[in-house]
Amino acid sequence: MSVWAILVAAGRGERLGLDQPKAFAKLGEEPLLAEPLRRLDESDWIDAIVVVAPPGWEEPAILLAEELGCAKANACVAGGATRSDSVRAGLAEVPGDALVVLVHDAARPLVSDDVIGRVLAPLSDGWDGVVPGLPVSDTLKLVAPDGGVVDTIARDGLYAVQTPQAFLADVLRRAVAGGAEATDCAGLVEATGGRVKVVDGDPRLLKVTTADDLAKIASWL
Ligand code: C5P
Repeated sequence: MSVWAILVAAGRGERLGLDQPKAFAKLGEEPLLAEPLRRLDESDWIDAIVVVAPPGWEEPAILLAEELGCAKANACVAGGATRSDSVRAGLAEVPGDALVVLVHDAARPLVSDDVIGRVLAPLSDGWDGVVPGLPVSDTLKLVAPDGGVVDTIARDGLYAVQTPQAFLADVLRRAVAGGAEATDCAGLVEATGGRVKVVDGDPRLLKVTTADDLAKIASWL
């Protein structure tokens, strides 16, 4: 089966407080985007990669892929206003004969071959999509704008879901059609009736949101 990866990197990353977009924040000596791009390129599971860059940053993204020698980086397109728009832009570059699409957040640089294998395997057992997740361990509360607790949510069966997320290509195409919106691709697939399975995630797939997250991930490298 041919597996195409879409690396979504078009977020602004306002909470990092930098002049450049999050994908070009420094992780060690390199832009953040370099780490997940190299890891996807080196993965035997992946046949080709589409990079979805911040609008206006396509050229630096292409140059980076060249510098890293990423032979699988097939296309680079500008992202959209929302994550779902960026996924749509990336998916438009995936050829019709691709069987599986793996969507990954560039903001989670430490993607491993193990987790890629875990999300791909159940697609052969009839699942439409597979996502990595970690069981929620904190107590969850619904809180009003004034800080008052509205409700305590039972955490049994609740998972915090990460990327990479794997889908049958046709299922993902149908799910993103018509401008649907969700904070992850699985949400779009679920909304169109797709069956999505959760497999073991990885704490190292932490998403970079703040400067502290960047420092923590740099220390793990
Ligand atoms: O901000 P959020 O948590 O949704 O970001 C997750 C991933 O989606 C990041 O890698 C970010 O670059 C990407 N993204 C995107 N286009 C957007 C918003 C987010 O590619 N408009």
